[in-house]
Amino acid sequence: MEKEIKKFEEAVENVVEKEGLSRRDALKLMGASTALMLGATTSTPAKAEDAKGRVLIVGGGLSGMSTAARLMRKASGLKVTVVEPNPRSVSYQPGLTLIGGYEWQPSDIIYQTKEFVPSDVTWIQDKVVEFEPKANRVKTAKGKTLEYDVMIIAGGLELDFGRIKGLEEVGTLYTLGENEEAAKILAKGNAASLYFLDGALQMKRNLANFIEQAKSGKKLKAIYTHPDTPIKCGGAPKKILFLTDSNLRHKGGRENAELVFYPNGGKMFGVPEYHEAILKLFHQKGLKYHYKHNLIGIDLDKKVAIFDKHDRTKKVYDPDLEEEVEEVIHEKVEVPYDMIHITPPMKAPDLIGKSPVGSSKGFIPVKFETLQHVRYKNIFALGDIAAVPLGKTGGSARKQYKVVVDNVISYLNGKEPTATYNGYTVCPLITEIGKVMLAEFKWANPEEGKYNGVVAPSFPLDPTKPRWIYWLLKVYLLKPMTQYGMLKGLA
Ligand SMILES: Cc1cc2nc3c(=O)[nH]c(=O)nc-3n(C[C@H](O)[C@H](O)[C@H](O)COP(=O)(O)OP(=O)(O)OC[C@H]3O[C@@H](n4cnc5c(N)ncnc54)[C@H](O)[C@@H]3O)c2cc1C
Repeated sequence: MEKEIKKFEEAVENVVEKEGLSRRDALKLMGASTALMLGATTSTPAKAEDAKGRVLIVGGGLSGMSTAARLMRKASGLKVTVVEPNPRSVSYQPGLTLIGGYEWQPSDIIYQTKEFVPSDVTWIQDKVVEFEPKANRVKTAKGKTLEYDVMIIAGGLELDFGRIKGLEEVGTLYTLGENEEAAKILAKGNAASLYFLDGALQMKRNLANFIEQAKSGKKLKAIYTHPDTPIKCGGAPKKILFLTDSNLRHKGGRENAELVFYPNGGKMFGVPEYHEAILKLFHQKGLKYHYKHNLIGIDLDKKVAIFDKHDRTKKVYDPDLEEEVEEVIHEKVEVPYDMIHITPPMKAPDLIGKSPVGSSKGFIPVKFETLQHVRYKNIFALGDIAAVPLGKTGGSARKQYKVVVDNVISYLNGKEPTATYNGYTVCPLITEIGKVMLAEFKWANPEEGKYNGVVAPSFPLDPTKPRWIYWLLKVYLLKPMTQYGMLKGLA
């Protein structure tokens, strides 16, 4: 880690000159970040509170394992158990973008779960398959029954490739796992996806091949999709598009490549300031886009993507209302491509989302601020699986896990939960190799029921401007912050 800090410090020295940022601001940024890291490794806060009880955490990924670590730091008297099937569950998912479009290797992001299980926490390498919330117990795939006083659900998201016609064979995947076969199927049609490790590696190969062909003078088209479901890291579909553009500019062949974004939605970003800034970049870089296109099928042999285009409406007579209403027109559109990056539809794992603790939409219904289950007071949820507006990022989980820990301790002490999440999310949007727009935002005004996003910068800099210093943060600092800060229950 010292090496990482050193690299970062040297880089900040350079940025002072290169970007014209004042030394004070550069140091402030560097200081805040390194102090966080150093604090994370050196400080061991005293256990502040006593709380007795059995806490069961379902899912030991980023959110679940960080919550376990913080519970052990903050309270004495707890018996914490994490149920997690994957031996590499805590690996660094944000690094997948840098594997697919930059120089990172799998070894840069793969961590062993066992190395991050906090001492005195029991890890059961198993999967919860049945929830009985009224009896305060769950059953596991290996036939265990586990009872709890409080349950925390942190089961993340599944990638639902099977919902796209032509990708039924790929089916449902998890981001972290052995998915070589799925990547091979996609590769048949020059398709790939950053959302799983083998898919990110395939993306890197497809990109290298695409660049070689573009350099040789061939006219090519690459397309990038964004589905009609909530997804983790909403910026990733655009990050890989920007990285394709940047790689082509560095290595040659940009003039021969048409790069087109096909999102299901009608904007680049939910927060107006970031939407405007990204749109400007699209125009500057000559990137194309067609809003309101949802990928519903793909012919891998012919390299044709099939979209549900829903960008127009028509007036129809509604006999119940006895008046004309607007109806969305759905058209099937076929788009031939040379390379495609697919962001698949995502959902909570059915075993959890469709269980008695789930909801009709599959996610875990919680009170947005306290993250307490809407029906069961002794159940909390966080991370990608929680049904809260906006963020499904590690950045939101980093705020949520502290709220959950405080509220679980309150609950076990017979008090009402008072810690609140404010909707904070961060998307370090890579706009080219060497530049990142640090899109930070939070809910506008939860007290008045306004959960739309508003900009919430942590640093005294225009957050809509892509900067080299944020690239340094993304490439050098966020990973150790996650490893040594969040996963240790500290930052
Ligand atoms: C390509 C990509 C880029 C990203 N970029 C960023 C970024 O730049 N910044 C950022 O902040 N975030 C980013 N993210 C998002 C971030 O990685 C996730 O939001 C974060 O990992 C969510 O943590 P989680 O604990 O909720 O889910 P996960 O870390 O996915 O963990 C969920 C765990 O639950 C387990 N589980 C599932 N079902 C069961 C069951 N029935 N029983 C027991 N365990 C179960 C799974 O095995 C898994 O380990 C990115 C993600 C991807 C894929």
